This record gives sequence, C-alpha cells and structure tokens, in this order.
Amino acid sequence: MLTVCALGLLFLAVTISGFFATFTATNHVEQQRSMRLAEAAVNSQKAALGILAEDNAWWDEAALDIYINGKAQTFFQENWADYTVNNPSYDMVLLVDKNQNVLAATEKGEAITLDITKAFGKAAVDTIGTLSLKAPAKQMLVVDRHGLSVIAASMVRHTDNEKNPGLIGNTPRILVLKKHLSAEAIKSIAQQYNVPGLRYHTRPPNKDSFPLTDGSGAVLGYLSWDAPTSGLSAAKNSLPVLIVGGLLFFAALSFGARMGLMLLNSLSAQAYTDSLSGMPNRRALRSAIRREQAKSSTHALALIDLDGFKYVNDNFGHAVGDQLIKKIAEMLNAQVGDEGIVARLGGDEFAILLASNDAQRRIQAISDRFLERLTMPVMVEDRALSIGASIGLAATSCPLKDEGELLRRADISMYQAKRLGKMQVQWYDPLLDEEQSVANELAAELRHSLSMGELTVVYQPIVEVEDRRCGAVEALARWNSPTRGPIPPNTFIPIAENTGLIDAIGLFVLRRACTDLSAWPDIKLAVNVSAAQLRNPMFPQQLQAILLDTAFDPQRLELEITETYLIADASLARKVIEGVARLGVMLSLDDFGTGYASIGFLRQFSFGKLKIDRSLVKEAQYDEAARMLVQVSVAAARALNMVVTAEGVETSAHADLMKIAGCDQLQGWFFGRPVEYDVLAVMLAKTQSNAAQIG
Ligand code: C2E
Ligand code: MG
Ligand code: MG
Repeated sequence: MLTVCALGLLFLAVTISGFFATFTATNHVEQQRSMRLAEAAVNSQKAALGILAEDNAWWDEAALDIYINGKAQTFFQENWADYTVNNPSYDMVLLVDKNQNVLAATEKGEAITLDITKAFGKAAVDTIGTLSLKAPAKQMLVVDRHGLSVIAASMVRHTDNEKNPGLIGNTPRILVLKKHLSAEAIKSIAQQYNVPGLRYHTRPPNKDSFPLTDGSGAVLGYLSWDAPTSGLSAAKNSLPVLIVGGLLFFAALSFGARMGLMLLNSLSAQAYTDSLSGMPNRRALRSAIRREQAKSSTHALALIDLDGFKYVNDNFGHAVGDQLIKKIAEMLNAQVGDEGIVARLGGDEFAILLASNDAQRRIQAISDRFLERLTMPVMVEDRALSIGASIGLAATSCPLKDEGELLRRADISMYQAKRLGKMQVQWYDPLLDEEQSVANELAAELRHSLSMGELTVVYQPIVEVEDRRCGAVEALARWNSPTRGPIPPNTFIPIAENTGLIDAIGLFVLRRACTDLSAWPDIKLAVNVSAAQLRNPMFPQQLQAILLDTAFDPQRLELEITETYLIADASLARKVIEGVARLGVMLSLDDFGTGYASIGFLRQFSFGKLKIDRSLVKEAQYDEAARMLVQVSVAAARALNMVVTAEGVETSAHADLMKIAGCDQLQGWFFGRPVEYDVLAVMLAKTQSNAAQIG
C-alpha cells in the first residue's frame, strides 16, 4: 500500500514531468490541458491506492486473529512479514497501536524495532493518527534512513461493520506497509526503458524536475530526467517517461498478491460503472446475471426502454437529457432499493435484476409501479417532462446457455411491449422463440456428428511477447455440420454442456490434441475444459489415462478454465483441480475480465496462468478503465507468479498495448488464426528450421 502510494505519486510526478518535456516544446494550451489530465490521473491514482489499502486491512481473518484469537503475531508473520523478503512490492511491514507504538515490525524478512516518528517523521505519524474505523486508508511519501520511500496505512477491521466496535474495543491496530524507492530501483527502470537520467534528488536540480511532497505538503525531494532538446525529440522522449511512470505504478500495484488483487477489484469497479448515472453498467449486469446463473437461483430481469427520450434530448438539449437520465435512475433505485440491481445499459435503456424465489412477482410489481409513476411528468429543473417506457421481462431458475440469453429474452419481450403500444410490461414467451427448438435439433445432430467422427480440432499459436516465437498452441474444437455448415463452439459447447455430450467432446479434444502435439516437445498445449467436465470426479483419472496413452508430458499441458465454474461450486472445483494439479498439469484462468475478479478465488486456486479476455483487450484500446484493469490484472498476476496471456490480439496496436501492460504471451489473429494440424505442423517446422539456421 505504501508502495502503491509512493509509486503512484511518483508515477504522477513522472507523468507530469513527461508532459512537461513535451509541452514546453509545443504550445501553452496543450500544456494546460495535459496538466489538467495529469491532475485527474493523480486523483484517480490516489483513490485507487486508498481502496487498496482499505482492502488489505479490511480482512475478516486478520481482524479475528488480531483482536479476538490472540494470534496477532502469527497472522502478522504469515500473511505480511513473510512477504517482505525479495518482494518488489513492499519491503517493510508494521503493526501499530493507536498511540503509534510499533507492536511488530519486519523489514526484508528480519524482525526489527523502530520508532515510527523517528523513522518516518511527524507528518506520517499525524496522518496515520487520523485513521479511524470509518476513515479510508492513508498513503504518503516519506524519507527514512534508506531514502525515499512510500508508506500506506489502514486500520485492521472486519468487513461486518456491526462487529467492529466489539472486536476492536479500545485497541485498534493499524497496518503499515513500506517500500523503499532506491536509486538503483529508479535507475534500473530508467535504463531498462530508456529514460535517460531519471533520478531522485534531495535538492532542486538545475534541470526539469518535479517536487515530491509528504502528507503535510513539505517537499521531500525532486525527480528529474534528461530533458529532450528539440520539440520532436521532446515528444518522443516523454513517451518512455510516461511508460516508466506507468511501470512504477504497476510495480506499486504488484506489491503483494493480495493487495494487487484488491486494487484490481477496485479498478474493476470503475469498469463496471456507468459514468453518467453512477449505476452499474451493462458489464456489471452481465456479470451479476452470470453469478445468479452459477448459483441456479430464481432470477428475473426487466429491460426498460424509455419512450420519448429522444424528443427531450433534441428539444431541450443534452444537459436536460442527462438530468432526466439521472432522475430516472433515482426513481428506479428508489423502487428497487436493496432488493436487486438497477443498471444503465446505455442511452435510454435500463435494467433491473432481482433474485429470490418470488422474483417474478416482485419484478412485475416494480415494473407496474414504475409505469404508473410515469403517468405523471418527471420534473427536471423547471420543466415537466412527459416520458413513457416499455418494459420486457424474463425470468429463469436454471442456468441458461449464457448470461446473454436472459438479456436476449428480456429484449425480445421489450420489443413486443413496444409493438403493443408502449407503456406496457411484457413477459418473455418461449412460444415466440424458436431458439429452443433449434437447440434441440442441434443437440441431436451434434451427438450424431460426434459418433461419426465429424468433430475436429484446430490450433492457434500463442507467441512469447519477447521474441514473438510460438511457444504454445491452444486447441479449439470445430464442428462442421454436414447439413448446416460450420457451427461456432460458442454455440455448440453450451449445447453439449446441457445435454451431457461435453464429457465425450472434451476427452476427444484432449486425446486428439495430445496425439497431434506429441511430436513437438518444445511446444506447450492449452486445452479448454468445461465446467461440466470438471464436475465429473473421474476427470483427473481420464486425463491421466490420455497422458499415458499418448506419452504426453503433463508439464506441457495447460487446462483452461473459466471462472464461472469456480464460483458455482468452489469445494468440488478445488478437489478436481487439485487432482489435475497433482498430475503436473498447469491450470489457466480463461476469459479473465469478463466477470468480477474476486480476491478469494485467485488465492484459493493455484492457477499458473491468467488469460485476459479479448473483449478487455479490445476495450483497452479506447477505454481508460479497461486499460487500467488490464494493467492491474497483470500486476496482480505477477505477484501470484502467474504467467499472463492476452487473447484476441488483432492488430499491432493491441500487441504493443499488451506488451506495455506487461503480458508475457500474446494470442490472436495478428499472430495467427486457428489452423488445422497439418498447417500448424508446416508452420512449426518452418519456425524451428529458421531458429536452427540463426542458431
Ligand atoms: P477461448 O478459450 O477463449 O478461445 C479463444 C477464442 O477466441 C477462439 O474462438 C478463437 O478462435 C478466438 N480468437 C482467437 N484470436 C482471436 C482474435 O484475434 N480475434 C477474435 N475476434 N477472436 C479470436 P473459438 O474457437 O470460436 O472458441 C470460442 C470458445 O469456445 C473458446 O474460447 C472456448 O471457451 C470454447 N471452446 C472452444 N473449443 C473448446 C473445447 O474443446 N472445449 C471446451 N470446453 N470449450 C471450447
Ligand atoms: Mg481458451
Ligand atoms: Mg479465452
């Protein structure tokens, strides 16, 4: 947390410095604009760091062990102190009481004694002193005997606020983390990323620099770099400075697996929020639906489309339109309260998700009430705006094909409501929907195709970021139906899962792929495994049999699993996953970024790899929140010693972005589409003979 804070500030400092380098050589307006941008960056980093600190100390196990179970020392040692050794993220941790007495302190694995005022100065002590149950974490730069450092502090507490007063009593404990920003650390980053002369100074240097301040605003030192000489080179040189800033920030984020993950959660929160209304957005809604489906709970969805919103926007302007959206959001929230989730899907479209045994009845009641409310005008500033809505409803109590299915059903119903004359509520009617009958037909055909050997496996290269050499391939199932032509796996895999065919298909893909790839000992093989397959307790044995039959080295195999499964049945998942891991097979977390990353499960399961979903890679190009999510995911994965692969790399811009974000491997059409084994073999042979020639 300390690290994050200081490095975050350092990042800002360096960022602003980077902007400076460019803008002095360009023009004043641009400079002002960029300064404001940098300021915004400072604020958002600070907020992110605060949440990170909060999460770290806001930990039920920590609170119970420290306040109740008398296990403070053990907990401190095992969960924090042990991580101070060779950890790029933090090198010192303290547990402090309310009078700032240090109860335990460890630096680089060694227990130490220390006076916090002497060590970090009065500003730090004052800041830590302001921490309370309700106050968020604090972070600041300090100069201690090692030099420039970052510290961050947060009160240890339980997530259940009610419990805290009893737990904590009169003895609050504060967790403090520290990371030293050594000259070598700064220098090596500067060298590695070609930022000539990035340095920390205690006095103002005779060159461009940026002051670093402590909690009280006192200047602790300056960060300088070798300023570029011409406008163009200034522009060029500021980019690496920014990159270094970013890297410092990532380094900060990676200070400890848990912490990184916690920040990841906070940043994912940004990606899940609609910026205008502050409500959950479409991504958040999809994720919530997925969670309900994983639990097989009864849940109901309402899609609400406003009628007449465009008229308001066109006639009164966007500002009024925005106000109206906010008003509607408030009204919906008031109707739903804590009972469910209200999301804004964009434009004038909203959604409500409820989960409970009587979700259908309740969503109908809420929808009726909302339409009734709209029979009266909505006041925005002094205007009385008449607005209508059409509402489509859908509900289920069993997992559907995917979370999009429920949305699709509600969407069909919403359009039906519009057709029926607006201000209507319409339930989904399966009779209107041909989807189900198509799925039934497909399932029968799939069964037939499987028995006829009509399913095939293709392979997509996965390249190392460093030399872009293909080091692994992902096996992907293909079904070319004799009657319907190629059916994408996103269509037939869910059908196979729902009809019990997935076990046979999964084992077929595994066997085929291990057989094909056994001739290429240097290439790793990734195979997708469905949730349903892992529910079969025989899976580890079946896998072992295939490995033996094909003489395939388990160390070369990676099984890709998506998070839905883990959430749905964590204890069964753990058993099967452990069985797989015992064989020496690696596990990858697939499609990361499509759901909520929970701190819990990345820690619970020993994944060796994280695959960033292509939707996130795509968004990262345009969307700051998505970009942050990628960057922080990488940092968090690093801290857990996981390899990171970016999926869906379609352009060289994607590749560069993911490289900068710190991914180890890239996969996507830019490097190669999935191909049949014969084509792959030619490709691999070519690469290897090239390598042999070069070697
Ligand atoms: P996945 O495991 O995330 O696989 C990556 C998917 O992204 C593949 O789609 C691949 O063709 C596609 N892809 C790769 N690079 C790019 C790119 O640059 N742009 C775009 N737009 N797409 C790219 P595919 O083959 O359609 O597979 C979809 C999903 O179906 C897979 O996602 C996986 O979850 C599932 N699947 C495929 N084969 C199997 C299998 O044998 N067993 C199981 N259980 N699931 C499978
Ligand atoms: Mg995959
Ligand atoms: Mg994937």
